Amino acid sequence: MKKWPLFLLIALFFSACGDAWIPISIDQTLGEQAKDEILNDKYTYKILTKEECPQTYLLLEDLRNQILENGNLSHKNDFTWEIKIIEDDSVLNAFCVPGGYIFVYTGLIKYLNSKAALAGVLGHEMAHADRRHSTKQMAKQLGLSVLLQYVLGIDQSSLLNLGANLLGLSFSRSDESEADNKSVEYLYNTEIDARGAAFFFEQLQHESNKDLVPEFISTHPNPENRIENIYAKWKELGAKKGNRYELDYNSAIQDLP
Ligand SMILES: [Zn+2]
Repeated sequence: MKKWPLFLLIALFFSACGDAWIPISIDQTLGEQAKDEILNDKYTYKILTKEECPQTYLLLEDLRNQILENGNLSHKNDFTWEIKIIEDDSVLNAFCVPGGYIFVYTGLIKYLNSKAALAGVLGHEMAHADRRHSTKQMAKQLGLSVLLQYVLGIDQSSLLNLGANLLGLSFSRSDESEADNKSVEYLYNTEIDARGAAFFFEQLQHESNKDLVPEFISTHPNPENRIENIYAKWKELGAKKGNRYELDYNSAIQDLP
């Protein structure tokens, strides 16, 4: 009888059990690598420190904490949920890599006009990590055995840039709508209006400056459907109107350069 390597048997077992059985250490390892990749590439990603804009960090961390405390996330305690602000006013985007490392561009923070919209986008990005969208996609593309070998340290030679590869992934339509729905769920039990992600899409739809390339839309297509879906989810939960927190938004982010 042919002898199968142990990791392959483990991988086959996990595959047979579905995505839920991909070890969480894969998310943590991949995410940490992607985070290091970003922090080391100071030319592409100019990270603002907490000393440079304490107020804006405080706002982002408060919104994140409200999501974590009320959102019923599966991996609240497994992931770091660490936030970094990237200085680039031309980018209307945010992203969260596996393991919960969250990156938000100054372009997005300045473009938005309420804490609810910012919380909605944060919730959406956190959902991609909590629902393990990138990790599942990578396991599908590379095979779980490759990922397992990598995380177990059996073969890292050809995979040194796996974390960097993560940054180029785009999500499927179903992952996007799941992240939108989760964003509503995460915020529903807070004082913040749970439709925040839709407020952002609505703002983009009414944008008169068409030259402004909304990167979020290129990675997150079909805003019309998505607004409808977000409202539908919100109605399903009971259509509770929360606070948009528009009035003090600009003063809360005024320490951004
Ligand atoms: Zn997304």
